[in-house]
Amino acid sequence: MILKNRIRCRFCGDIVESKYRHDFKSCSCGRVVVDGGRDYLRRGYIDSKDDYIELSVFAPDKEMTVRELIEKNRSDPRHRYTEYAVRDAGTGRVLWDGDRRRPLPDEIGAREIVSWQVEPDPQDGEAIIIWIDVFE
Ligand SMILES: [Zn+2]
Repeated sequence: MILKNRIRCRFCGDIVESKYRHDFKSCSCGRVVVDGGRDYLRRGYIDSKDDYIELSVFAPDKEMTVRELIEKNRSDPRHRYTEYAVRDAGTGRVLWDGDRRRPLPDEIGAREIVSWQVEPDPQDGEAIIIWIDVFE
């Protein structure tokens, strides 16, 4: 499922986002466009796909374990700007803060996802944190 349908123009630097189906948006220099909202990812460009940086964010599939989700997304270049953190769905306690220098603990990796919440990363406006809620 698409949560954020957006790209950044490499020429003018604008981040352009399509929020709903047929919400056709262009950057200020006019070189790149997005469309499709949360239904599909349509991109337009003048020269090539290198005219923009993909910044879309996809929701996790609830059937996945936390480890499957994070490993899958880290191998996808479109998820470069997405970070993950895991918390207990009952208490809200943070089980893993998403620090890439600390590996995901094995016991968290096996858990199934209950729900998730998307927040902008306070350190970096482009990045997004997906909070994954699991039952301990
Ligand atoms: Zn532009």
